[in-house]
Amino acid sequence: MRPQWVIGNWKMNGGLAANQALLAGVLDAARLVGSVRIGVSAPFPYLLQCQQMLGESSVVWGAQDISAEIGGAFTGEVSGAMLSDFDCGIVIVGHSERRIYHGESEGRVAEKALRAVENGMRPVFCIGETQAQHDAGETEAVLARQLSPLFVLLNDTRLAMVIVAYEPVWAIGTGKTPTPEGAQAVHRFIRTQLAAHGLADTLPVIYGGSVKPDNAARFFAQPDIDGGLIGGASLDAAEFLAIVKAAQ
Ligand code: PEP
Repeated sequence: MRPQWVIGNWKMNGGLAANQALLAGVLDAARLVGSVRIGVSAPFPYLLQCQQMLGESSVVWGAQDISAEIGGAFTGEVSGAMLSDFDCGIVIVGHSERRIYHGESEGRVAEKALRAVENGMRPVFCIGETQAQHDAGETEAVLARQLSPLFVLLNDTRLAMVIVAYEPVWAIGTGKTPTPEGAQAVHRFIRTQLAAHGLADTLPVIYGGSVKPDNAARFFAQPDIDGGLIGGASLDAAEFLAIVKAAQ
């Protein structure tokens, strides 16, 4: 049995005071539901706050991006070594909002995953098709293309650190979702891609895209879905707790 993960992606939301209340809720969720692995991906300025508030708990925290560079003259970038100074255990890479708004290529995203692993973090490697690709029946081809640079850059030991997040772009923040069975079929396909690396049965593959308290349990009940990456609903402590409970 693979463990279930519930990871909150706060995106560009929050503030010191609001985070304090939300992190207290995340701590409650971890205390109440010990069997679920809980993660928080916060904006960079709040990593210290996460480290201070979550440090004694089972909750893992991290950032929403990492530089593909190691260090030096890259204004605005944040390196893997900097993230590990704040004991980050996870980092989101290749979120569709980064791919779309910041032009991150498939190769670049895989380099970021490598930097994460080199610095002891688990990359939450986001893949997913757009609505047009979905409608054109291209989902599997898109996902295979997004995964392939990862298989080139990371050897199998490093690959074992990855958490794959299947996030159909058309489901993010829209309230639209695939059916749980539809998502399950895609997760099964992702596992076939992992099979050549001996990781089909062990790597966490989580679902993201409009997961809410009222639909979470149906996604998490699917055999190849190992939990969720949660955007909007991770900003509300009660909703996040309900989703964590659905994963137990
Ligand atoms: C996300 O941004 O990773 C996400 C899944 O967002 P939402 O849950 O709001 O759709």
